[in-house]
Formats: sequence, structure tokens, C-alpha cells
Amino acid sequence: MKVYAVIGDPIEHSLSPTMQNAAFESLGLDACFHAFRVSTSKLKEAILGAHAMGFGGLNLTIPLKEKALQVVKPIGVAMVMGAVNTVDFQNGIWGYNTDGIGALMALENAGIKVSGQRVLIIGAGGAAKAIAYQLAQEGAMVVIANRKIDRALDLAQLVNGRGLGLDELDKFVPESDLIINATSVGMSEDDLPLLDGRLLSGDHAVFDIIYNRETQLLKDAGRVGAKTVDGVMMLVYQGSSAIKIWTGLDAPIEVMERAVREELKKK
Ligand code: NAP
Repeated sequence: MKVYAVIGDPIEHSLSPTMQNAAFESLGLDACFHAFRVSTSKLKEAILGAHAMGFGGLNLTIPLKEKALQVVKPIGVAMVMGAVNTVDFQNGIWGYNTDGIGALMALENAGIKVSGQRVLIIGAGGAAKAIAYQLAQEGAMVVIANRKIDRALDLAQLVNGRGLGLDELDKFVPESDLIINATSVGMSEDDLPLLDGRLLSGDHAVFDIIYNRETQLLKDAGRVGAKTVDGVMMLVYQGSSAIKIWTGLDAPIEVMERAVREELKKK
């Protein structure tokens, strides 16, 4: 049996084992997927240990994505962005990043096009970087707004976009076609709204990559008739892209989505 795992810290609430095991079972693979809590200081041992033990592959989550570059050989977007979310052990230790393609596929799945569109990405962390790079590659005009403005400016430079602070959202939200929350704001019920909901209109598409609950941003967007997308399909597509890298197989998207949504209902 091939063993796969997601590693990170914290890891208790990860939906990846439920989702990936459902996919493996549906594909008839003799494989299982676990979650292990691994701190940054143990990352190198964990990756080398998994490789030594013959694991099929790993997914990495907070706070390991950037630190992994010290251990893996990054490929494609992972190299450009300096962040890895998928490790493959076939003929070496390779690092990929499937977050950006996962986001793009989630948008396409919802019928939202990005080419030529004015896209406002809020956040400049690991996920925002991968999404900004992917959407810029697809021909989107990208604006990055972040709490720490220097991070927004750095990312904007990388994707040929514009960087700003959150204090400029009032001006840039109305001017955008697609608004993406790529911060962690909204994960908790107590989080303050990311932006003033009155800035949104029915002409907007709003994508919130948070998947554990319906965020205030999506509630506000739904209320004014904007097109909304939650983070579940990004999670599914980044996971299906990892399965493709590890096995070469097309993963069962509906099975994975169902597994995630059913697990979320229990929480
Ligand atoms: P990260 O690298 O730690 O980045 C966090 C981002 O959130 C930064 O831009 C940070 O701004 C911003 N932020 C945090 N607290 C804030 C606050 N109170 N007000 C304003 N901005 C705040 O994390 P990440 O890996 O990019 O993940 C971000 C979120 O995306 C997480 O909730 C994660 O679960 C989710 N995610 C979802 C998927 C999916 O498949 N759906 C995939 C990856 C990540 P500063 O730079 O100013 O600190």
C-alpha cells in the first residue's frame, strides 16, 4: 500500500485525509492518506523520512510551504513563487505548487473567466502568491491589497500588477470585476469583515478561498446578487492536481467535493 500525507502545524482540522482517501478509494488505488503534525524545525527530517520510508507523496500546509524549499527541488510555479504545497518522490524529491491552478479551475468551474478581467486579490501570503501568479499568466490585470503593504508591493512587482494597502479598498473594490479573499480573515466567526459590504454590487464576482464556513464577505456578496465561489472547489482542485502529479490519474472531482462538504457539515 502506498502512503501519502499532509503535514503542517496545526493539522487537526485538515480535510485532506477525508478528501484524498475518498479519491483513492474511488480510483481503486491501494493507497491511504494521513495527516501528521510537523513543525518547521522538523520539516527536513519529516520530508527525508517520508522519502526514506517510500511514501508516494506529501501535501504541505501552514507554516511549511516556503521552508520546504530548503529540502525539495522546486518546479514551475513553486520555483517562481518560492512556495511548495505538493512533494513528489518519483526519482528525487520534487516540489510543486497546485494552489494557483486549483484556484483557476475553481473559477472556471463556476463559469468565471479571468482573462482581461480586473482582479483584486486581498492578501499577499502563500496562497495569494500562487493565485496572483496563475491569474496573471492567464491574462488577468491583477491588483494586490494587503495589510502589510510592503508584501503587496513585492508581489505586485512579481506579477506585473499594482500593490496597495487595505485602506485603498474603498476605491479599488468598485473598479474590479473579480474580488478574491486570499487572507485568513473569515475563518473564524469572530473575524471582523474584510471590507465594507456596501462596496459590492451584482456586477462583481467574489471568490473567497476560505472553505470551513460561509464568510461575511460571501454573505454580503450574495445579498447584492454578485456571483460567489467558496474555497471548497479550490481545495478539491489543488488536491486533484496533486493526485495527477503522484499517480498520473484524473481524480474524481465530484467524489472529492462530496467528501469535503459532508465532512464540513459534521463540524
Ligand atoms: P499566509 O501565508 O499565512 O497569509 C495570510 C494572509 O492573510 C496575509 O496576506 C496576511 O496579511 C493576511 N491576514 C491575516 N490576518 C489578517 C487580518 N486580521 N487582517 C488582514 N489581513 C490579514 O496564509 P496562506 O497560506 O496564504 O492562507 C491564507 C488562507 O487561505 C487560509 O485561511 C487558508 O486556510 C486558505 N487557503 C485555502 C486554500 C483552498 O484550497 N481553498 C488553499 C490554501 C490556503 P499580512 O501579510 O499583512 O500579515
